[in-house]
Amino acid sequence: MNPVTRKSTRHVNQNEGLIFEKSSPGKAAWRLPQSDVPEVDAGKLLGSAERKTLGSMPEVSEIEIIRHFTRLSTWNYAIDLGMYPLGSCTMKYNPRVNEVVARLEGLANGHPYLPESIAQGALRIMKSLSDCLIEITGMDAITLQPAAGAHGELTGLLMVRAFHESKGSPRKKILIPDSAHGTNPATAATAGYAVENLKSNTAGMVDVAALTSQMNEDVAALMLTNPNTLGVFEQDIHKIADLMHAKGGLLYMDGANMNALVGKVRPGDFGVDVMHLNLHKTFSTPHGGGGPGSGPVAVKRTLEPYLPTPVLKENPDSTLAFDYDRPQSVGRVRAFYGNFGMFVRALAYIMANGPDGLRQTTEDAVLNANYIRKGLDGTYDLPYKTPTMHEVVFSDKLQAKKGVRTMDIAKRLIDYGFHPYTTAFPLIVPGALMIEPTESESIEELDLFVEAMRSIAREVDEDPQTVLQAPHTTRVSRLDETAAARKPNLRWKPAAS
Ligand SMILES: *Cc1c(COP(=O)(O)O)cnc(C)c1O
Repeated sequence: MNPVTRKSTRHVNQNEGLIFEKSSPGKAAWRLPQSDVPEVDAGKLLGSAERKTLGSMPEVSEIEIIRHFTRLSTWNYAIDLGMYPLGSCTMKYNPRVNEVVARLEGLANGHPYLPESIAQGALRIMKSLSDCLIEITGMDAITLQPAAGAHGELTGLLMVRAFHESKGSPRKKILIPDSAHGTNPATAATAGYAVENLKSNTAGMVDVAALTSQMNEDVAALMLTNPNTLGVFEQDIHKIADLMHAKGGLLYMDGANMNALVGKVRPGDFGVDVMHLNLHKTFSTPHGGGGPGSGPVAVKRTLEPYLPTPVLKENPDSTLAFDYDRPQSVGRVRAFYGNFGMFVRALAYIMANGPDGLRQTTEDAVLNANYIRKGLDGTYDLPYKTPTMHEVVFSDKLQAKKGVRTMDIAKRLIDYGFHPYTTAFPLIVPGALMIEPTESESIEELDLFVEAMRSIAREVDEDPQTVLQAPHTTRVSRLDETAAARKPNLRWKPAAS
């Protein structure tokens, strides 16, 4: 486990340009047969669309292309290589059966402009998924349109706004706990609301007394993540829902942490009015670069009239159709009907597991997180002692005494063969180490992770420089993350000729 390859890696890094640029004139990875049809004048055929000068393209052989992309694929980290303990992201394994089903020709090649009459199979998949998600959440109706969790939040708050408008005023504020994910306040602001911060108590839960004094008729909704980003279940959830409803407000639940609840409790039963799910978290569809996301929004009956159009409906003869005649709808939030390939994968996952399998998944996810909590408590500071569910949040308090912060520990973890955990979030824990193993990991992998984290803590005591300069085994070491976000350089461009 000791990373000893740093010299050779450095050497390669210095020659990155040489390794990347492989083109030399005359090489090709293809050969076409002699044309057996008469040549035509491209100018005549294409008119002004003809491209007079070709851009410069790399000239490489077939094996060079294959090696290039295969090599690039090994420079990255993936769930298929090892554990991805990125707290709050639920980076679970994406089962291959999902992929097999999503690639079935009729599903992969179905076009969104197919008439409903010959797309009944696809619509049935969407209806079945909707029914499953409604059952899992205990809500009454759902839209599958939003393309991510944050997009679902916005869709949900637009419905909240429409609901209050129908009662005469959209109201002014959204209450958001200080433990919330950054997308929550961003969503509230985008939906035209002022954000009011709600502080947590010493147990890491919503302070009910603070909520009581802050809740009034200006508040449109409370946006709550449950379990919250500390992994703590909001035990006063019934009281919280009652407080909101008593003053005519709504309870929005950020469902990103549903991996801790599926098959155990249902948000619809504890007073939630509207919530999103992240299919790319809880329901094992790929994240980000691995595929488009999906953030369905489920609502109670009171909000159903405001669902985005079109809404899937079942005709009396059991055929399915899209209903566009929804005068109170917030309108469309996505082209077509959402990311269909993700619906197929999520439904495959749900059906492969079944109700008992999903419940087992939840129990395993919670067990794994608590195994890590137990293994690292004492080695790392645990700021909140409240029982945690699917994730656990430590702080770098002990290591900070030696000048080592959470980001340094996360970078060093890369040298041990793990993706970093989530750093610096939630904001109520300074120097947070937010760890979520998910149910996918075996006890052997969890033991390796715990041992890696303990080993790093020993290094902090004995040789902090090793940790402060990590990672040592990657192609590049510490990047300027701000510049990477502000001035992304995402593709190869030919050298100016
Ligand atoms: C991931 C996450 C979101 C945002 O979801 P995206 O799909 O990334 O847009 C919102 N809230 C919480 C708590 C999350 O973990």
